[in-house]
Amino acid sequence: MSSQNQPSSYIVPDSSSTDPQAILPLQTPLRTRIISIAGIQEQTSFSFLPIDGCEYYDPPNDLLITRPPSLQRDKDIPTWEWTQWGANDEFLFSSALCFDCYAKTADPDTGEYVRFKLKMALHVEQGSGAPEEVAGELKQEAEYYVTHLARFQGNHVPKHYGIWTAETTWGGSVVCAMLEYAGIPFKLRGQYDTRQARDAFAALVLDLHRYGVRHGQLVWPHITWHMLWDVKQGIPRVVDFKQACYHFDCSRSLPLCRYDSAPLKLLDCDELVRVGRYLELFGKKPVNEDEEVQEALKVLKRYQDENNGKEGYTVEESLLLQQAWLKRHRQQVQSAPA
Ligand SMILES: [Zn+2]
Repeated sequence: MSSQNQPSSYIVPDSSSTDPQAILPLQTPLRTRIISIAGIQEQTSFSFLPIDGCEYYDPPNDLLITRPPSLQRDKDIPTWEWTQWGANDEFLFSSALCFDCYAKTADPDTGEYVRFKLKMALHVEQGSGAPEEVAGELKQEAEYYVTHLARFQGNHVPKHYGIWTAETTWGGSVVCAMLEYAGIPFKLRGQYDTRQARDAFAALVLDLHRYGVRHGQLVWPHITWHMLWDVKQGIPRVVDFKQACYHFDCSRSLPLCRYDSAPLKLLDCDELVRVGRYLELFGKKPVNEDEEVQEALKVLKRYQDENNGKEGYTVEESLLLQQAWLKRHRQQVQSAPA
């Protein structure tokens, strides 16, 4: 297993101490990576910025090379323009600069070049306004990846390689979030749009809700930027959790999946309804005539009546059981002779 597959341990500075020796112990190897940025002559040394109590994956100890940046979704921006990011009001962008990035040397285990996504805020030295705000969001999101998204890193969400900073001649103080490359925007009716792909996205969003994570930006047109398709692994991913809610109590009475009807009131969750509509999962049958939905509700109610109040019982447990019932039921219907 290569090193980037394992979160690495490092010494987290003790913020309660004012002794500079304690803040950066001499024996701590300074974690740096050299990044060669498209359009910039010199290579830039970035230092890892520890966040209290958070561990991150370790990027390969290699030269990292970027392509020209984009603003999350737009076409490439010329160097003279993007290096002004945050420097004055004319170039006040509300989102971070996004760079496609790859390691110079192929991974000896896989023969592939490890790819990343870098999100940068420039001119953070100004100490106020958009640069500081975006830098703060990047740090906050990096923390969320450890505190609330740890179980999803490498599957539903990209692995996080931490926050890196640099003092530069080209963009002032730079704050950079380094993430695993997670794929291309998923386009409805595009190359990778299949019934299975849509079902997989629905299952992903449902899984986030099961663990209390409401993404918050799965709304048109944002949803088209935040749902990615990982072509290599053939899996969906979701990115950009800066507006997510992490102790969300989803009030659904049905899982998000395909239905012959459109049981929106029973889904009872704006994000699930919106994602379901976007993925065109719902049919035209009236809900009260959708026997499968009615039966699924009975299964849920029966289990809840029997188990509510028992030690360790949770609503999510009953919803999981209902989902398993629905899956079995559909398999039976499919395999039944016509
Ligand atoms: Zn929900």
